[in-house]
Parts: sequence; structure tokens; C-alpha cells
Amino acid sequence: MKFATKVIHAGQEPDPTTGAVMTPIYQTSTYWQKSPGEHKGFEYSRGTNPTRQALEGCLATLENANFALAFSSGMAATDAVMKLLKPGDEIIASNDLYGGSYRMFTRIFANYGIIFHFIDLSSPDNIIPYINAKTRLIWLETPTNPTMQIVDISGIARIANAKNILLTVDNTFASPFLQNPIDMGADIVLHSATKYLGGHSDVVMGALMLNDKDLYEKLWFIYNACGATPGPMDSFLVLRGIKTLHLRMKAHCENGRRVAEFLKSNPKVAKVYWPGFEDHPNYKIAKRQMRDFGGMISFTLKDAALTETFAIASKFKVFTLAESLGGVESLVNHPVTMTHASIPKEAREAVGVVDNLLRLSVGVEDIEDLLEDLEQALR
Ligand SMILES: *Cc1c(COP(=O)(O)O)cnc(C)c1O
Repeated sequence: MKFATKVIHAGQEPDPTTGAVMTPIYQTSTYWQKSPGEHKGFEYSRGTNPTRQALEGCLATLENANFALAFSSGMAATDAVMKLLKPGDEIIASNDLYGGSYRMFTRIFANYGIIFHFIDLSSPDNIIPYINAKTRLIWLETPTNPTMQIVDISGIARIANAKNILLTVDNTFASPFLQNPIDMGADIVLHSATKYLGGHSDVVMGALMLNDKDLYEKLWFIYNACGATPGPMDSFLVLRGIKTLHLRMKAHCENGRRVAEFLKSNPKVAKVYWPGFEDHPNYKIAKRQMRDFGGMISFTLKDAALTETFAIASKFKVFTLAESLGGVESLVNHPVTMTHASIPKEAREAVGVVDNLLRLSVGVEDIEDLLEDLEQALR
């Protein structure tokens, strides 16, 4: 099945009881048993629910994976992966991560004796000096948030696979439309389905996709035992959102390119972070592993202090000043005080998350309106 067909049909069949074409919202916590243990495969909705099951079938297919698990948020999905580890285990992670992931690693799991190495993953060989007998997991995002660095997934996977180290790729920024890490050797793909998968900024959800059955069973145990699973209404919303993923992503990519080019030529702008520029340091890898470059763009302002940056961020009329990304509407975000506020100043400045950096999630509105809004905000 091709991508545009998968997003509409995968995991979904007409409802067996009524023939309803759209997956019903099975708003139930529990299921009838004819005699103890004799049931139709559903016992209790923390572990299994038909609406969620349809969504998981679809999610697995989108990442060319055998299995998917939906969680009540992207962070809940991250938490489940971390619970595969034991005290003393070591993790190599990118030094340019989603702020919430960094916060969970350093302020929750570091207290449980898990050791983190945050390093620059722009070249796969950078991980070699950090690998030892205790290394269990490599964690990366690409493109990274918010500076849009590109990590060579297959390059890292070759090293990780040879040493039996699990590789998790947070694929939230690219979405399965632009890149499929499992095809490049990743063991687990993570999504904040809150973003492009849901696509309408009306639901918070996370997902893991993977191929290995043993690993799936371990993660399913954590999912059911710890219980951060999404309800049927949220499952329905994401299932519905996914049906237009390919259409939305094409429009995000087209608008993203126009906005990136506009910013690059604007005299108020110092630097534009977008992987589609030929002078992006990892452009060749981006071109190889992604089908297009997406609608996430960050930029710094020329000679602007925090107050001027705030003034510009507040001037937008079509872009909404808000956290999050990946919805149909365009958003502007100030990483230092919003999405990345939990990262210490030195750590964030080292990777370019400075006071005058703004991040855009370019939506699917008319491009003329978006460019006009940028023009007036930067004037
Ligand atoms: C938003 C986000 C997360 C966290 O997901 P939630 O659904 O907000 O819990 C993780 N990784 C990335 C890259 C994100 O953008």
C-alpha cells in the first residue's frame, strides 16, 4: 500500500457490529465476559480498546513497522522507553533535544541511576568514545528542535546495531511522511502525535513504533502496567487527523520553503535554520534520508536583545504565539522562554538556542498571508 492509501485505510475495517465505515469511539472502560476469561479479546481499556487498536494498526503501517503503541502523550511514550533500563545503564543522547525530553532525562531518570551523555551527533563517529559495556540506548531527534540539525540515522544505526545498543529516533519533526527511521536501522520510532500526526492542535498523544516482538512485549507490559494510555476519543481524533497527513505535509513543505527563502533575504534576520538550504551543514544527509524538508524553521534576529525579540514575537497576526507545532495553523515560539525554558542557559546557548532565536511552525494557510505577516512583524 502507498502512503496516501495507508493514512486513510490502514488498521481500519468497517465496524463488525454495525458496518460503520468510520471507526466508532468505543467509550467503555470494560468488556463483557461470557464466562471468566471467555471474551472477544478485550478485557479492560487501559490495556486494549478497539478505537485505540485501529489507531495503532494505522500508526505501525505509517512507519513500516510491525507494532505500534499509543500513549497519552509524547512524554508518556518517552517514559515507557526509559523504563526498559536499569540503574547503571548508560544512554547517549543528542545535545540538541526537545526540552521536555532533556528535563525528563536529567531530572527524573538521572535520579534512578541512569547515566546520560549528551553529545553532538552531527557525525556518527562522535558516539564511539562514549560507548562501553553499559551503553544500552542511543536517543536522537532529526531534524533537531529547534536548530534543525540533521543526524545521519543509518550511520548511527550501523554502529548501534553492531554493538547491540537500542536506537530510538524521535521522528516528531519529520513525521512519517518525510522519513522512516526503522527503514534506516532504528529499533524504536517515537512520535509526539500531538504534532503532525494529529495535525489540528486539538489532542495530546504519543506513539512508539517498532519491529521486534520481544521488545514490543516488554513495552506493552510497561504500557499496561504503568497505564499512560490514551482514551478512545483522543484515539479517534488522531485517527481522523492522520487521514489528511499527506495533504497537510505537502502544503507544510511548500509553505516552509517559501518562508525559509523569505527569511533568508530579510535584512532583520541573521541566521535561518532549515535543512533544505544547500549550505546547511548536513544538507546531503537531509536530502538522502528525508523526502522533503518540512515546515519547521528557526531564525535569529540581527542585533536584537530580548526585549526587541519579545516585541517582534508579539506583533504577529496570522502566526499565533504559542508552544507546540505541526498543526494546520502557523505558530511562532520563543524557545528560550517557552519550549526550552527547562534547559540551563549554558547548555542551550552551546547549541544556538539564544535569546533572539524564534521558531516557526509553518502551517497550511495561504502563503501570501503568511509572508505578509512576517513582513509586517519584522518591519
Ligand atoms: C512535543 C514533543 C515531544 C513531547 O510530546 P508531548 O505530546 O507534548 O508529550 C517530544 N519530542 C518532540 C520533538 C516534540 O516536539
